[in-house]
Amino acid sequence: MSAIIHARVVEHLQRLRLGFVAERLDAVLNEAATREPTYLDFLDQVLRQEIEAKQRKRVAMGVQIAHFPTVKTLDEFEFKFQPSIDQRLVRELATGRFISSAENVLIFGPPGVGKTHLAIALGRAAVETGHSVLFTSATALLAALAKAETEGQLADRLLFYSKPKLLVIDELGYLPFERRSAHLFFQLVARRYERGSLLITTNQLVTQWGAVFGDEVLAAAILDRLLHHSHTLIIQGDSYRLKQKRKAGLIPPMPHPQGALAGEPARADRRKH
Ligand code: ADP
Ligand code: MG
Repeated sequence: MSAIIHARVVEHLQRLRLGFVAERLDAVLNEAATREPTYLDFLDQVLRQEIEAKQRKRVAMGVQIAHFPTVKTLDEFEFKFQPSIDQRLVRELATGRFISSAENVLIFGPPGVGKTHLAIALGRAAVETGHSVLFTSATALLAALAKAETEGQLADRLLFYSKPKLLVIDELGYLPFERRSAHLFFQLVARRYERGSLLITTNQLVTQWGAVFGDEVLAAAILDRLLHHSHTLIIQGDSYRLKQKRKAGLIPPMPHPQGALAGEPARADRRKH
């Protein structure tokens, strides 16, 4: 008799898509027999296990879709090493609220200060808070858009990059854009404007974006849309990689700590615009 009920419970659980508990029903029942929780506690535990399993699965899938180049988390980030970073702002961004209101994030700084690390970590936090994310380098993004244009698939490709709630574009400005690429980038930014968030990391101050895009007017139009609803993080400091090498005695210590990125972006500040 109890075997029949057991089979029926498994079937109910499966029909309700409570797969985690369905697969572990015996273990769940054995534990309940040992611990003797109240009916309410038992129900609470079973449902919580299922919800946690579903969340883990959703995050794993979201992380896979996002195509992060490596695993980086905020917990691993040493804020004390980069005092120029507004830690409160980073923690606020990790709540994913900026994505719900389609705001952008710009991370400025010289090489090695943790821009990509923060971009991945914030991207992951966005997945955890239930948002769709796609991570790409600026170079890969532009190559994909240019290829799509040549093949007459630009509309599809722009749609592809417009869909995720958060699009992370890493390393903007390391290579200057060709004129055509700059126009394609503008189209993407214009399309996402007030609809989906962009998180961009760059080693170039906004005053240098004219040179990056090879066109002052176009750069101004791009910046206008990017900065309208945005948060900026300006990292000024020593490269973390160099710090590790210095620690190991591979290179001499710095005479005085100084970031390669002098001055602040002309139109960006730490507050929300
Ligand atoms: P950037 O993108 O600014 O050039 P990265 O994010 O690639 O720099 O950082 C270089 C390396 O140093 C990465 O392995 C990153 O995880 C690590 N790193 C940088 N800053 C920190 C930090 N403050 N705490 C922990 N690791 C850091
Ligand atoms: Mg980087």
